[in-house]
Amino acid sequence: MAAREEVRETEVCIIGAGAAGGIMALELARRGIRVVVLESGPRHDLARRGDYSRRFVKGENPWESPLAGIDRHTTGGSVGYRLEWNRARGVGGSTLHWEGTALRLHTDDFRMRTLHGMAEDWPISYEEIEPYYGKAERALGVAGTPDDPWASPRSTAFPLPPFPMSFSDGFFAGACRKLGIALHHLPQARNSLAYGGRSQCRACGTCHVCPTGAKASTDLTHIPQAEATGHADVVTDATALRLEVDRSSRVRSVVYAGADRRERRLSARIFVVAAGGVETARLLLLSASPDFPRGLANRSGLVGRYFTSHPSIDVTGRVAARVYPYRIGFSTAMSGQFAVPRDRQRRGAFFLEFLNSAGPLPGQIAPVSGAWGTALGQRVKAEFGRTLGIRIYAEQLPDNSNTVTLSTGVTDYFGNPAPHITYGIGPYERAALEGAREVAVKILAALGAEGIRSGALGYAAHQLGTHRMGSDPAQSVVDANLRAHDVPNLYLVGGGCFVTVSASPPTLTIAALAIRTAEHLAEVYRGQGAGRRSHRSGSPAAGAIR
Ligand SMILES: Cc1cc2nc3c(=O)[nH]c(=O)nc-3n(C[C@H](O)[C@H](O)[C@H](O)COP(=O)(O)OP(=O)(O)OC[C@H]3O[C@@H](n4cnc5c(N)ncnc54)[C@H](O)[C@@H]3O)c2cc1C
Ligand code: SF4
Repeated sequence: MAAREEVRETEVCIIGAGAAGGIMALELARRGIRVVVLESGPRHDLARRGDYSRRFVKGENPWESPLAGIDRHTTGGSVGYRLEWNRARGVGGSTLHWEGTALRLHTDDFRMRTLHGMAEDWPISYEEIEPYYGKAERALGVAGTPDDPWASPRSTAFPLPPFPMSFSDGFFAGACRKLGIALHHLPQARNSLAYGGRSQCRACGTCHVCPTGAKASTDLTHIPQAEATGHADVVTDATALRLEVDRSSRVRSVVYAGADRRERRLSARIFVVAAGGVETARLLLLSASPDFPRGLANRSGLVGRYFTSHPSIDVTGRVAARVYPYRIGFSTAMSGQFAVPRDRQRRGAFFLEFLNSAGPLPGQIAPVSGAWGTALGQRVKAEFGRTLGIRIYAEQLPDNSNTVTLSTGVTDYFGNPAPHITYGIGPYERAALEGAREVAVKILAALGAEGIRSGALGYAAHQLGTHRMGSDPAQSVVDANLRAHDVPNLYLVGGGCFVTVSASPPTLTIAALAIRTAEHLAEVYRGQGAGRRSHRSGSPAAGAIR
Protein backbone atom coordinates (compact mmCIF):
# COMPACT_ATOMS: atom_id res chain seq x y z
CA MET A 1 0.00 0.00 0.00
CA ALA A 2 1.25 3.54 -0.77
CA ALA A 3 2.54 5.90 1.93
CA ARG A 4 0.00 7.75 4.03
CA GLU A 5 -0.98 11.24 3.01
CA GLU A 6 -3.79 13.79 2.95
CA VAL A 7 -4.29 14.26 6.69
CA ARG A 8 -7.62 15.95 7.54
CA GLU A 9 -9.18 16.98 10.82
CA THR A 10 -12.69 17.33 12.18
CA GLU A 11 -14.57 17.45 15.46
CA VAL A 12 -16.58 14.23 15.08
CA CYS A 13 -15.73 11.49 12.58
CA ILE A 14 -18.56 9.07 11.78
CA ILE A 15 -17.67 5.84 10.01
CA GLY A 16 -20.64 4.61 7.94
CA ALA A 17 -23.56 6.58 6.44
CA GLY A 18 -26.33 4.01 7.00
CA ALA A 19 -29.22 4.11 9.46
CA ALA A 20 -27.20 4.90 12.58
CA GLY A 21 -24.45 6.98 10.94
CA GLY A 22 -26.84 9.03 8.80
CA ILE A 23 -29.02 9.87 11.79
CA MET A 24 -26.04 10.75 13.99
CA ALA A 25 -24.67 13.03 11.26
CA LEU A 26 -27.85 15.11 11.08
CA GLU A 27 -28.41 15.20 14.84
CA LEU A 28 -24.86 16.47 15.45
CA ALA A 29 -24.58 18.80 12.44
CA ARG A 30 -27.85 20.56 13.22
CA ARG A 31 -26.41 21.36 16.65
CA GLY A 32 -23.47 23.07 14.95
CA ILE A 33 -20.95 20.28 15.51
CA ARG A 34 -18.53 19.75 12.65
CA VAL A 35 -18.87 16.20 11.28
CA VAL A 36 -17.05 14.24 8.60
CA VAL A 37 -18.71 10.98 7.55
CA LEU A 38 -16.54 8.35 5.89
CA GLU A 39 -18.67 6.04 3.77
CA SER A 40 -17.24 2.97 2.13
CA GLY A 41 -19.74 2.88 -0.74
CA PRO A 42 -20.94 5.36 -3.38
CA ARG A 43 -23.91 7.73 -3.57
CA HIS A 44 -26.87 6.15 -5.33
CA ASP A 45 -28.78 9.06 -6.88
CA LEU A 46 -32.57 8.87 -6.70
CA ALA A 47 -32.68 9.70 -10.42
CA ARG A 48 -31.02 6.34 -11.21
CA ARG A 49 -33.46 4.26 -9.17
CA GLY A 50 -35.78 3.50 -12.10
CA ASP A 51 -32.89 1.71 -13.79
CA TYR A 52 -31.96 0.07 -10.47
CA SER A 53 -35.56 -1.25 -10.12
CA ARG A 54 -35.40 -2.80 -13.57
CA ARG A 55 -32.10 -4.50 -12.69
CA PHE A 56 -33.54 -5.70 -9.39
CA VAL A 57 -36.57 -7.24 -11.15
CA LYS A 58 -34.12 -9.15 -13.39
CA GLY A 59 -32.48 -10.65 -10.29
CA GLU A 60 -29.45 -8.34 -10.12
CA ASN A 61 -28.41 -6.59 -6.91
CA PRO A 62 -28.03 -2.90 -7.85
CA TRP A 63 -26.63 -2.10 -4.40
CA GLU A 64 -23.62 -4.35 -4.96
CA SER A 65 -20.37 -2.52 -4.20
CA PRO A 66 -18.30 -1.40 -7.20
CA LEU A 67 -15.13 -2.58 -5.40
CA ALA A 68 -14.73 -6.26 -6.24
CA GLY A 69 -13.96 -8.34 -3.18
CA ILE A 70 -14.82 -5.71 -0.57
CA ASP A 71 -17.74 -7.81 0.65
CA ARG A 72 -15.86 -11.12 0.77
CA HIS A 73 -16.60 -13.12 3.90
CA THR A 74 -16.44 -16.67 5.17
CA THR A 75 -18.98 -18.56 7.25
CA GLY A 76 -19.15 -21.35 9.80
CA GLY A 77 -21.62 -22.74 12.34
CA SER A 78 -24.64 -24.99 11.93
CA VAL A 79 -26.64 -22.52 9.81
CA GLY A 80 -24.03 -20.24 8.25
CA TYR A 81 -24.97 -16.58 7.71
CA ARG A 82 -24.29 -15.02 4.30
CA LEU A 83 -24.10 -11.28 3.81
CA GLU A 84 -25.00 -11.06 0.10
CA TRP A 85 -28.36 -9.24 -0.21
CA ASN A 86 -28.37 -8.83 3.58
CA ARG A 87 -26.71 -5.42 3.77
CA ALA A 88 -25.79 -2.58 1.40
CA ARG A 89 -22.84 -0.22 1.07
CA GLY A 90 -23.41 3.37 0.06
CA VAL A 91 -24.87 6.59 1.41
CA GLY A 92 -28.02 5.28 3.13
CA GLY A 93 -26.41 1.93 4.00
CA SER A 94 -28.77 -0.99 4.36
CA THR A 95 -31.79 1.36 4.49
CA LEU A 96 -31.35 1.60 0.70
CA HIS A 97 -32.37 -2.03 0.55
CA TRP A 98 -34.52 -2.55 3.65
CA GLU A 99 -38.23 -3.35 3.68
CA GLY A 100 -39.16 -0.52 6.02
CA THR A 101 -40.95 -2.48 8.76
CA ALA A 102 -40.60 -0.08 11.67
CA LEU A 103 -41.52 -1.67 14.99
CA ARG A 104 -40.73 -0.65 18.53
CA LEU A 105 -39.49 -3.26 20.98
CA HIS A 106 -41.81 -4.03 23.88
CA THR A 107 -41.28 -2.98 27.52
CA ASP A 108 -40.58 -6.62 28.45
CA ASP A 109 -37.91 -7.01 25.75
CA PHE A 110 -35.55 -4.85 27.80
CA ARG A 111 -35.90 -7.06 30.92
CA MET A 112 -35.39 -10.65 29.86
CA ARG A 113 -33.26 -11.53 32.91
CA THR A 114 -35.59 -9.89 35.44
CA LEU A 115 -38.77 -11.35 33.94
CA HIS A 116 -37.62 -14.70 32.58
CA GLY A 117 -34.20 -15.38 34.11
CA MET A 118 -32.61 -15.50 30.67
CA ALA A 119 -29.86 -13.59 28.83
CA GLU A 120 -29.35 -10.06 30.25
CA ASP A 121 -31.41 -6.94 30.90
CA TRP A 122 -30.62 -3.85 28.87
CA PRO A 123 -29.02 -1.01 30.83
CA ILE A 124 -31.89 1.25 29.72
CA SER A 125 -35.63 0.74 29.98
CA TYR A 126 -38.43 1.12 27.45
CA GLU A 127 -39.53 4.24 29.35
CA GLU A 128 -36.12 5.85 28.77
CA ILE A 129 -36.07 5.12 25.06
CA GLU A 130 -39.80 5.81 24.43
CA PRO A 131 -39.47 9.55 23.60
CA TYR A 132 -36.69 8.68 21.13
CA TYR A 133 -38.92 6.14 19.40
CA GLY A 134 -41.33 9.02 18.75
CA LYS A 135 -38.49 11.15 17.34
CA ALA A 136 -37.29 8.28 15.15
CA GLU A 137 -40.81 7.67 13.82
CA ARG A 138 -41.12 11.35 12.89
CA ALA A 139 -37.67 11.45 11.29
CA LEU A 140 -38.25 8.36 9.15
CA GLY A 141 -41.97 8.99 8.54
CA VAL A 142 -43.66 5.89 9.94
CA ALA A 143 -47.19 5.06 8.78
CA GLY A 144 -49.23 3.20 11.36
CA THR A 145 -52.06 3.17 13.86
CA PRO A 146 -52.04 1.98 17.46
CA ASP A 147 -54.20 -1.12 16.91
CA ASP A 148 -51.69 -3.69 18.24
CA PRO A 149 -53.25 -4.78 21.56
CA TRP A 150 -49.82 -5.85 22.89
CA ALA A 151 -47.85 -2.75 21.98
CA SER A 152 -46.17 -0.86 24.80
CA PRO A 153 -47.51 2.61 25.65
CA ARG A 154 -46.63 5.44 23.29
CA SER A 155 -46.61 9.17 24.05
CA THR A 156 -46.84 10.34 20.43
CA ALA A 157 -49.09 9.45 17.50
CA PHE A 158 -47.74 7.86 14.33
CA PRO A 159 -46.78 10.71 12.01
CA LEU A 160 -48.58 9.13 9.03
CA PRO A 161 -51.86 7.21 8.70
CA PRO A 162 -51.54 3.46 8.13
CA PHE A 163 -51.60 1.80 4.74
CA PRO A 164 -54.97 0.12 4.16
CA MET A 165 -55.09 -3.62 4.64
CA SER A 166 -54.71 -5.54 1.38
CA PHE A 167 -57.16 -7.84 -0.36
CA SER A 168 -55.36 -10.96 0.93
CA ASP A 169 -55.23 -9.50 4.47
CA GLY A 170 -59.03 -9.85 4.39
CA PHE A 171 -58.70 -13.65 4.16
CA PHE A 172 -56.21 -13.75 7.04
CA ALA A 173 -58.33 -11.41 9.16
CA GLY A 174 -61.34 -13.71 8.82
CA ALA A 175 -59.38 -16.82 9.80
CA CYS A 176 -57.63 -15.07 12.70
CA ARG A 177 -60.95 -13.81 14.05
CA LYS A 178 -62.26 -17.39 14.14
CA LEU A 179 -59.11 -18.58 15.93
CA GLY A 180 -58.93 -15.70 18.43
CA ILE A 181 -55.70 -14.30 16.94
CA ALA A 182 -55.49 -10.52 16.66
CA LEU A 183 -54.31 -9.28 13.30
CA HIS A 184 -53.30 -5.62 13.12
CA HIS A 185 -51.58 -3.06 10.89
CA LEU A 186 -47.86 -3.36 10.29
CA PRO A 187 -46.07 -0.01 10.87
CA GLN A 188 -44.07 1.03 7.81
CA ALA A 189 -41.36 3.64 7.26
CA ARG A 190 -42.85 4.60 3.91
CA ASN A 191 -45.09 7.44 2.93
CA SER A 192 -48.81 6.67 3.03
CA LEU A 193 -49.08 10.41 2.19
CA ALA A 194 -46.43 12.79 0.87
CA TYR A 195 -44.15 13.53 3.83
CA GLY A 196 -40.73 15.00 4.54
CA GLY A 197 -40.36 16.34 0.98
CA ARG A 198 -40.78 12.80 -0.40
CA SER A 199 -43.68 11.55 -2.51
CA GLN A 200 -46.55 9.30 -1.55
CA CYS A 201 -46.00 5.56 -2.13
CA ARG A 202 -47.14 4.54 -5.62
CA ALA A 203 -47.58 0.85 -4.79
CA CYS A 204 -45.21 -0.09 -7.61
CA GLY A 205 -43.94 -3.06 -5.65
CA THR A 206 -40.13 -3.05 -5.95
CA CYS A 207 -39.54 -1.91 -2.39
CA HIS A 208 -35.99 -3.31 -2.08
CA VAL A 209 -35.26 -0.55 -4.58
CA CYS A 210 -37.76 2.29 -4.20
CA PRO A 211 -37.71 4.40 -7.40
CA THR A 212 -39.85 7.22 -5.95
CA GLY A 213 -38.19 7.83 -2.59
CA ALA A 214 -41.44 7.05 -0.74
CA LYS A 215 -39.63 4.46 1.37
CA ALA A 216 -37.48 6.05 4.07
CA SER A 217 -33.74 5.65 3.65
CA THR A 218 -31.18 7.89 5.32
CA ASP A 219 -29.69 9.04 1.99
CA LEU A 220 -33.04 10.86 1.59
CA THR A 221 -34.24 11.48 5.14
CA HIS A 222 -30.99 12.55 6.85
CA ILE A 223 -27.80 12.96 4.83
CA PRO A 224 -28.88 15.85 2.53
CA GLN A 225 -30.33 17.67 5.55
CA ALA A 226 -27.05 17.18 7.45
CA GLU A 227 -25.04 18.52 4.50
CA ALA A 228 -27.40 21.50 4.17
CA THR A 229 -26.43 22.67 7.67
CA GLY A 230 -22.94 23.39 6.34
CA HIS A 231 -21.49 21.38 9.23
CA ALA A 232 -21.33 17.91 7.66
CA ASP A 233 -19.13 16.52 4.88
CA VAL A 234 -19.75 13.07 3.51
CA VAL A 235 -16.74 11.42 1.88
CA THR A 236 -17.75 8.47 -0.31
CA ASP A 237 -15.50 5.64 -1.50
CA ALA A 238 -13.75 5.98 1.88
CA THR A 239 -13.35 2.69 3.72
CA ALA A 240 -11.98 2.88 7.26
CA LEU A 241 -9.13 0.38 7.51
CA ARG A 242 -8.12 0.83 11.16
CA LEU A 243 -8.33 3.23 14.06
CA GLU A 244 -5.15 4.45 15.75
CA VAL A 245 -4.85 5.28 19.46
CA ASP A 246 -2.60 7.71 21.32
CA ARG A 247 -0.70 7.10 24.57
CA SER A 248 -3.80 7.77 26.67
CA SER A 249 -5.85 5.07 24.89
CA ARG A 250 -7.98 7.58 22.99
CA VAL A 251 -8.58 7.21 19.28
CA ARG A 252 -6.38 9.74 17.51
CA SER A 253 -7.10 9.04 13.85
CA VAL A 254 -8.69 6.75 11.35
CA VAL A 255 -6.77 5.41 8.37
CA TYR A 256 -9.01 5.04 5.32
CA ALA A 257 -8.70 4.33 1.60
CA GLY A 258 -10.71 4.36 -1.62
CA ALA A 259 -10.61 2.46 -4.87
CA ASP A 260 -7.00 3.58 -5.45
CA ARG A 261 -6.02 1.81 -2.18
CA ARG A 262 -4.02 4.90 -1.12
CA GLU A 263 -4.09 5.39 2.65
CA ARG A 264 -5.37 8.70 4.01
CA ARG A 265 -5.82 9.78 7.59
CA LEU A 266 -8.49 11.77 9.43
CA SER A 267 -8.03 13.09 12.97
CA ALA A 268 -10.97 13.92 15.19
CA ARG A 269 -11.87 14.66 18.74
CA ILE A 270 -14.62 12.02 18.84
CA PHE A 271 -15.10 8.91 16.70
CA VAL A 272 -18.41 7.18 16.04
CA VAL A 273 -18.29 3.78 14.35
CA ALA A 274 -21.61 3.05 12.61
CA ALA A 275 -20.50 0.47 10.06
CA GLY A 276 -23.17 -2.19 10.76
CA GLY A 277 -23.05 -5.16 13.13
CA VAL A 278 -20.42 -7.06 11.15
CA GLU A 279 -18.09 -4.28 9.96
CA THR A 280 -18.04 -2.34 13.24
CA ALA A 281 -16.79 -5.46 15.03
CA ARG A 282 -14.32 -6.19 12.23
CA LEU A 283 -12.90 -2.65 12.26
CA LEU A 284 -12.28 -2.91 16.02
CA LEU A 285 -10.58 -6.29 15.59
CA LEU A 286 -8.46 -4.87 12.73
CA SER A 287 -7.41 -2.01 15.05
CA ALA A 288 -5.47 -4.15 17.52
CA SER A 289 -2.45 -2.35 19.02
CA PRO A 290 -0.01 -2.96 21.91
CA ASP A 291 -2.52 -1.26 24.22
CA PHE A 292 -5.43 -3.32 22.83
CA PRO A 293 -3.88 -6.61 21.69
CA ARG A 294 -7.28 -8.33 21.24
CA GLY A 295 -8.73 -5.44 19.25
CA LEU A 296 -9.74 -1.88 20.04
CA ALA A 297 -12.27 -1.49 22.89
CA ASN A 298 -12.03 -5.24 23.44
CA ARG A 299 -10.65 -5.67 26.96
CA SER A 300 -13.83 -7.67 27.70
CA GLY A 301 -13.09 -10.04 24.80
CA LEU A 302 -16.72 -9.54 23.68
CA VAL A 303 -16.20 -7.59 20.43
CA GLY A 304 -17.71 -9.79 17.71
CA ARG A 305 -19.34 -12.19 20.21
CA TYR A 306 -23.12 -12.78 20.54
CA PHE A 307 -23.75 -12.25 16.82
CA THR A 308 -27.55 -12.54 16.63
CA SER A 309 -30.27 -12.34 13.96
CA HIS A 310 -33.89 -13.46 13.61
CA PRO A 311 -34.43 -17.03 12.35
CA SER A 312 -37.29 -17.06 9.91
CA ILE A 313 -39.48 -19.40 7.85
CA ASP A 314 -42.39 -18.91 5.43
CA VAL A 315 -45.45 -21.14 5.62
CA THR A 316 -47.60 -21.22 2.48
CA GLY A 317 -50.76 -22.94 1.27
CA ARG A 318 -52.91 -22.98 -1.85
CA VAL A 319 -56.47 -21.70 -1.63
CA ALA A 320 -59.35 -21.99 -4.09
CA ALA A 321 -59.97 -18.23 -4.37
CA ARG A 322 -57.85 -15.73 -6.25
CA VAL A 323 -55.83 -13.66 -3.77
CA TYR A 324 -54.18 -11.19 -6.21
CA PRO A 325 -50.56 -11.32 -4.93
CA TYR A 326 -47.53 -9.24 -6.03
CA ARG A 327 -49.57 -6.04 -6.32
CA ILE A 328 -48.11 -4.45 -3.18
CA GLY A 329 -44.37 -4.64 -2.52
CA PHE A 330 -44.64 -4.77 1.25
CA SER A 331 -46.76 -6.35 3.96
CA THR A 332 -49.64 -4.49 5.55
CA ALA A 333 -50.74 -6.81 8.39
CA MET A 334 -49.07 -8.71 11.21
CA SER A 335 -49.77 -10.26 14.58
CA GLY A 336 -47.67 -9.45 17.65
CA GLN A 337 -49.79 -11.72 19.84
CA PHE A 338 -47.02 -14.30 20.30
CA ALA A 339 -44.17 -11.83 20.71
CA VAL A 340 -44.73 -10.75 24.29
CA PRO A 341 -47.21 -12.06 26.85
CA ARG A 342 -45.79 -15.52 27.35
CA ASP A 343 -43.38 -17.41 29.53
CA ARG A 344 -40.39 -16.81 27.31
CA GLN A 345 -38.23 -19.24 29.24
CA ARG A 346 -40.39 -22.04 27.85
CA ARG A 347 -41.66 -20.47 24.64
CA GLY A 348 -39.63 -18.13 22.50
CA ALA A 349 -41.31 -15.04 21.08
CA PHE A 350 -42.23 -14.78 17.41
CA PHE A 351 -44.24 -12.52 15.21
CA LEU A 352 -46.33 -13.27 12.15
CA GLU A 353 -46.22 -11.19 8.98
CA PHE A 354 -49.08 -11.81 6.56
CA LEU A 355 -47.53 -11.72 3.10
CA ASN A 356 -49.03 -9.81 0.19
CA SER A 357 -46.76 -11.70 -2.22
CA ALA A 358 -46.44 -15.46 -2.01
CA GLY A 359 -46.39 -18.45 -4.32
CA PRO A 360 -44.83 -19.05 -7.72
CA LEU A 361 -44.80 -16.36 -10.41
CA PRO A 362 -45.99 -17.17 -13.97
CA GLY A 363 -42.34 -17.39 -15.05
CA GLN A 364 -41.77 -20.07 -12.44
CA ILE A 365 -45.00 -21.99 -13.15
CA ALA A 366 -44.48 -22.19 -16.93
CA PRO A 367 -41.13 -24.03 -17.19
CA VAL A 368 -42.17 -26.84 -14.84
CA SER A 369 -45.70 -27.23 -16.23
CA GLY A 370 -44.72 -29.40 -19.20
CA ALA A 371 -47.51 -27.65 -21.14
CA TRP A 372 -47.48 -25.65 -24.41
CA GLY A 373 -49.70 -23.17 -26.24
CA THR A 374 -53.29 -22.84 -24.99
CA ALA A 375 -52.77 -25.52 -22.33
CA LEU A 376 -49.83 -23.55 -20.92
CA GLY A 377 -51.90 -20.37 -20.71
CA GLN A 378 -54.67 -22.23 -18.92
CA ARG A 379 -52.23 -23.85 -16.50
CA VAL A 380 -50.60 -20.55 -15.57
CA LYS A 381 -54.02 -18.93 -15.14
CA ALA A 382 -55.21 -21.74 -12.92
CA GLU A 383 -52.03 -21.87 -10.79
CA PHE A 384 -51.04 -18.25 -10.38
CA GLY A 385 -52.39 -16.06 -7.59
CA ARG A 386 -53.87 -18.72 -5.33
CA THR A 387 -51.14 -19.02 -2.71
CA LEU A 388 -51.27 -17.37 0.70
CA GLY A 389 -48.15 -17.07 2.87
CA ILE A 390 -47.23 -16.21 6.44
CA ARG A 391 -43.68 -15.23 7.39
CA ILE A 392 -42.41 -16.01 10.87
CA TYR A 393 -39.62 -14.14 12.65
CA ALA A 394 -38.46 -15.71 15.89
CA GLU A 395 -36.55 -14.24 18.78
CA GLN A 396 -32.99 -15.53 19.05
CA LEU A 397 -31.15 -15.67 22.36
CA PRO A 398 -27.62 -14.25 22.47
CA ASP A 399 -25.12 -17.09 22.20
CA ASN A 400 -21.44 -16.57 22.91
CA SER A 401 -20.46 -19.08 20.23
CA ASN A 402 -22.11 -17.07 17.40
CA THR A 403 -19.36 -14.67 16.38
CA VAL A 404 -17.78 -12.25 13.94
CA THR A 405 -14.02 -12.87 13.84
CA LEU A 406 -11.25 -12.23 11.32
CA SER A 407 -10.91 -14.79 8.55
CA THR A 408 -7.59 -16.58 8.59
CA GLY A 409 -7.49 -17.36 4.88
CA VAL A 410 -9.50 -14.74 2.95
CA THR A 411 -8.74 -11.05 2.50
CA ASP A 412 -10.82 -8.17 1.15
CA TYR A 413 -10.17 -5.61 -1.59
CA PHE A 414 -7.67 -3.81 0.66
CA GLY A 415 -5.79 -6.94 1.71
CA ASN A 416 -7.35 -6.98 5.21
CA PRO A 417 -8.75 -10.20 6.69
CA ALA A 418 -12.39 -10.61 5.65
CA PRO A 419 -15.03 -11.16 8.34
CA HIS A 420 -15.72 -14.75 9.36
CA ILE A 421 -19.26 -15.29 10.65
CA THR A 422 -20.06 -18.27 12.83
CA TYR A 423 -23.82 -18.64 13.15
CA GLY A 424 -26.19 -21.32 14.33
CA ILE A 425 -29.52 -21.54 16.06
CA GLY A 426 -30.22 -23.66 19.14
CA PRO A 427 -33.11 -25.69 20.57
CA TYR A 428 -34.79 -22.55 21.98
CA GLU A 429 -35.15 -20.95 18.55
CA ARG A 430 -36.05 -24.22 16.85
CA ALA A 431 -38.86 -24.78 19.39
CA ALA A 432 -40.15 -21.23 18.85
CA LEU A 433 -40.17 -21.73 15.07
CA GLU A 434 -42.02 -25.02 15.48
CA GLY A 435 -44.64 -23.35 17.73
CA ALA A 436 -44.99 -20.56 15.21
CA ARG A 437 -45.30 -22.98 12.32
CA GLU A 438 -48.18 -24.74 14.09
CA VAL A 439 -50.01 -21.41 14.48
CA ALA A 440 -49.44 -20.51 10.81
CA VAL A 441 -50.68 -23.95 9.70
CA LYS A 442 -53.86 -23.49 11.78
CA ILE A 443 -54.55 -20.13 10.13
CA LEU A 444 -54.02 -21.50 6.63
CA ALA A 445 -56.07 -24.62 7.42
CA ALA A 446 -58.92 -22.38 8.65
CA LEU A 447 -58.85 -20.84 5.16
CA GLY A 448 -59.21 -24.27 3.61
CA ALA A 449 -55.68 -24.17 2.18
CA GLU A 450 -54.20 -27.28 0.64
CA GLY A 451 -50.59 -28.32 0.22
CA ILE A 452 -49.52 -26.35 3.31
CA ARG A 453 -45.76 -26.36 3.52
CA SER A 454 -42.90 -24.66 5.34
CA GLY A 455 -40.07 -23.12 3.37
CA ALA A 456 -36.39 -23.51 4.21
CA LEU A 457 -34.99 -22.13 7.44
CA GLY A 458 -33.73 -18.63 6.80
CA TYR A 459 -32.61 -15.62 8.78
CA ALA A 460 -33.38 -11.93 8.63
CA ALA A 461 -31.01 -9.28 7.24
CA HIS A 462 -30.40 -8.09 10.81
CA GLN A 463 -26.86 -8.24 12.22
CA LEU A 464 -26.99 -7.62 15.95
CA GLY A 465 -25.25 -8.02 19.30
CA THR A 466 -21.55 -7.79 18.37
CA HIS A 467 -20.66 -4.87 20.65
CA ARG A 468 -23.38 -5.21 23.27
CA MET A 469 -24.25 -2.51 25.75
CA GLY A 470 -24.20 -2.90 29.51
CA SER A 471 -23.06 -1.30 32.72
CA ASP A 472 -20.39 -3.89 33.56
CA PRO A 473 -17.24 -3.41 31.42
CA ALA A 474 -16.38 -7.08 31.88
CA GLN A 475 -19.73 -8.16 30.37
CA SER A 476 -20.26 -5.56 27.66
CA VAL A 477 -18.44 -3.35 25.15
CA VAL A 478 -20.36 -0.05 25.34
CA ASP A 479 -22.27 1.74 28.10
CA ALA A 480 -25.88 2.93 27.98
CA ASN A 481 -24.82 5.98 25.91
CA LEU A 482 -23.02 3.66 23.47
CA ARG A 483 -19.60 4.92 24.52
CA ALA A 484 -16.90 2.21 24.53
CA HIS A 485 -16.03 1.28 28.12
CA ASP A 486 -12.32 1.13 27.28
CA VAL A 487 -11.96 4.15 24.98
CA PRO A 488 -13.43 7.46 26.18
CA ASN A 489 -13.72 9.19 22.77
CA LEU A 490 -15.16 6.21 20.87
CA TYR A 491 -18.89 5.51 20.31
CA LEU A 492 -20.26 2.38 18.65
CA VAL A 493 -23.80 2.78 17.30
CA GLY A 494 -26.06 0.38 15.40
CA GLY A 495 -27.55 -3.05 16.01
CA GLY A 496 -24.30 -4.38 17.45
CA CYS A 497 -25.22 -2.71 20.75
CA PHE A 498 -28.39 -4.82 21.26
CA VAL A 499 -28.32 -6.92 24.45
CA THR A 500 -31.25 -9.10 23.38
CA VAL A 501 -33.13 -8.86 20.10
CA SER A 502 -36.86 -9.59 20.72
CA ALA A 503 -38.83 -10.92 17.74
CA SER A 504 -39.10 -7.48 16.12
CA PRO A 505 -36.91 -6.02 13.39
CA PRO A 506 -34.28 -3.69 14.83
CA THR A 507 -33.99 -0.51 12.81
CA LEU A 508 -36.45 1.75 14.61
CA THR A 509 -34.59 0.92 17.84
CA ILE A 510 -31.22 1.56 16.11
CA ALA A 511 -32.58 4.96 15.01
CA ALA A 512 -33.95 5.84 18.46
CA LEU A 513 -30.66 4.93 20.14
CA ALA A 514 -28.66 6.93 17.57
CA ILE A 515 -30.75 10.04 18.32
CA ARG A 516 -30.28 9.48 22.06
CA THR A 517 -26.51 9.05 21.69
CA ALA A 518 -26.25 12.18 19.54
CA GLU A 519 -28.02 14.18 22.27
CA HIS A 520 -25.67 12.78 24.89
CA LEU A 521 -22.63 13.42 22.72
CA ALA A 522 -23.66 17.01 22.03
CA GLU A 523 -23.91 17.59 25.79
CA VAL A 524 -20.51 16.02 26.46
CA TYR A 525 -19.10 18.04 23.63
CA ARG A 526 -20.46 21.34 24.88
CA GLY A 527 -19.26 20.49 28.41
CA GLN A 528 -15.74 19.98 27.12
CA GLY A 529 -15.52 23.44 25.62
CA ALA A 530 -16.22 23.16 21.92
CA GLY A 531 -14.90 26.07 19.93
CA ARG A 532 -11.50 26.40 21.60
CA ARG A 533 -8.97 27.39 18.98
CA SER A 534 -6.67 24.68 17.76
CA HIS A 535 -2.98 24.96 18.27
CA ARG A 536 -2.60 23.08 14.99
CA SER A 537 -4.66 24.88 12.41
CA GLY A 538 -6.09 27.83 14.29
CA SER A 539 -9.45 27.26 12.58
CA PRO A 540 -12.53 27.51 14.81
CA ALA A 541 -13.93 24.29 13.32
CA ALA A 542 -10.86 22.34 14.26
CA GLY A 543 -10.61 24.15 17.59
CA ALA A 544 -12.15 21.36 19.62
CA ILE A 545 -9.77 18.70 18.38
CA ARG A 546 -7.40 17.57 21.08
C1 LIG B 1 -32.97 -6.58 2.39
C2 LIG B 1 -33.06 -5.97 3.76
C3 LIG B 1 -34.31 -5.81 4.37
C4 LIG B 1 -34.39 -5.23 5.64
N1 LIG B 1 -35.64 -4.99 6.17
C5 LIG B 1 -35.74 -4.43 7.39
C6 LIG B 1 -37.00 -4.10 7.93
O1 LIG B 1 -38.04 -4.25 7.28
N2 LIG B 1 -37.06 -3.58 9.18
C7 LIG B 1 -35.93 -3.36 9.92
O2 LIG B 1 -36.03 -2.90 11.06
N3 LIG B 1 -34.71 -3.62 9.41
C8 LIG B 1 -34.58 -4.14 8.17
N4 LIG B 1 -33.34 -4.37 7.62
C9 LIG B 1 -32.15 -4.10 8.44
C10 LIG B 1 -31.74 -2.63 8.41
O3 LIG B 1 -31.46 -2.21 7.10
C11 LIG B 1 -30.53 -2.47 9.32
O4 LIG B 1 -30.90 -2.87 10.64
C12 LIG B 1 -30.00 -1.06 9.44
O5 LIG B 1 -29.79 -0.46 8.19
C13 LIG B 1 -28.68 -1.11 10.21
O6 LIG B 1 -28.19 0.19 10.38
P1 LIG B 1 -26.62 0.46 10.56
O7 LIG B 1 -26.42 1.91 10.49
O8 LIG B 1 -26.15 -0.25 11.78
O9 LIG B 1 -25.93 -0.28 9.33
P2 LIG B 1 -26.08 0.01 7.78
O10 LIG B 1 -27.37 0.67 7.50
O11 LIG B 1 -25.79 -1.26 7.09
O12 LIG B 1 -24.94 1.08 7.48
C14 LIG B 1 -23.58 0.79 7.62
C15 LIG B 1 -22.82 1.65 6.65
O13 LIG B 1 -21.44 1.57 6.99
C16 LIG B 1 -20.68 1.49 5.81
N5 LIG B 1 -19.40 0.85 6.14
C17 LIG B 1 -19.19 -0.43 6.47
N6 LIG B 1 -17.90 -0.62 6.75
C18 LIG B 1 -17.28 0.57 6.59
C19 LIG B 1 -15.94 1.00 6.72
N7 LIG B 1 -14.98 0.18 7.11
N8 LIG B 1 -15.64 2.30 6.43
C20 LIG B 1 -16.62 3.17 6.04
N9 LIG B 1 -17.91 2.79 5.91
C21 LIG B 1 -18.23 1.51 6.19
C22 LIG B 1 -21.54 0.67 4.87
O14 LIG B 1 -21.16 0.91 3.53
C23 LIG B 1 -22.93 1.17 5.21
O15 LIG B 1 -23.31 2.24 4.38
C24 LIG B 1 -33.21 -4.88 6.33
C25 LIG B 1 -31.97 -5.03 5.70
C26 LIG B 1 -31.88 -5.54 4.43
C27 LIG B 1 -30.54 -5.66 3.77
S1 SF4 C 1 -44.39 0.33 -3.42
FE1 SF4 C 1 -44.05 2.37 -2.50
S2 SF4 C 1 -42.26 2.10 -1.14
FE2 SF4 C 1 -42.37 0.31 -2.51
S3 SF4 C 1 -41.04 0.83 -4.22
FE3 SF4 C 1 -43.09 1.50 -4.83
S4 SF4 C 1 -43.24 3.66 -4.16
FE4 SF4 C 1 -41.45 2.75 -3.11
